[in-house]
Amino acid sequence: MKRKGILIVVSGFSGTGKGTLMKELVRTYDNYALSVSMTTRKPRPGEEEGKEYFFVSEEEFIKKVREDGLVEYANYCGNFYGTPREYVERQLEKGKDVILEIEIQGALKVREKFPTALLMFVMPPNAAELKKRLEGRGTESEAVIAERISRAAVEAEGIEKYDFLVINDNLEECTARMHALVQAAHSMPVRNPELIDEMRRQLEALR
Ligand code: 5GP
Repeated sequence: MKRKGILIVVSGFSGTGKGTLMKELVRTYDNYALSVSMTTRKPRPGEEEGKEYFFVSEEEFIKKVREDGLVEYANYCGNFYGTPREYVERQLEKGKDVILEIEIQGALKVREKFPTALLMFVMPPNAAELKKRLEGRGTESEAVIAERISRAAVEAEGIEKYDFLVINDNLEECTARMHALVQAAHSMPVRNPELIDEMRRQLEALR
């Protein structure tokens, strides 16, 4: 029986390094597909259309929402972010584990719509490291950094709603740990109803 893809939601405070972590996961292992979100935020220097995000106007974003073209969307620090539906559905059908790197409001909406989604929260080793990473990016103003840090404090309130917590201390080790957790999630009965039904049918036929 073909293994079904899992919808994997990865959240973490801005500056945790989860973007780099997800790229490493996709590069190292075969079975992942990384969803590219749509946003009304302006591109940062170095960001490319269609790679980090699809950068759109507010009108285009609202149009997509009206067409029911997004799995979920949220407003984060004044900008809209959303997950295009078509890519996600196509990759899941192919058996890929699809990664959505999204913030907590979106994560909880995904859980409502897809009860077997796997929710993972990535944390930096400590809060001082977070501030250092945000400042080190050199692309954000002091006001934006302060806003993202206070947003992190709000997001920290919801961490218990996630299935797993991963500390991003070392890129390779953290990537391997996340992959191991996804493999474990594949083995949970809740994600294998067809396999269980098939076994029950076969047992019944033997009686
Ligand atoms: P950034 O502006 O730093 O790229 O992203 C800000 C926040 O928005 C991050 O927490 C990121 O995970 C989240 N985000 C990115 N794409 C989406 C999306 O499609 N939906 C939701 N709900 N959040 C997103």
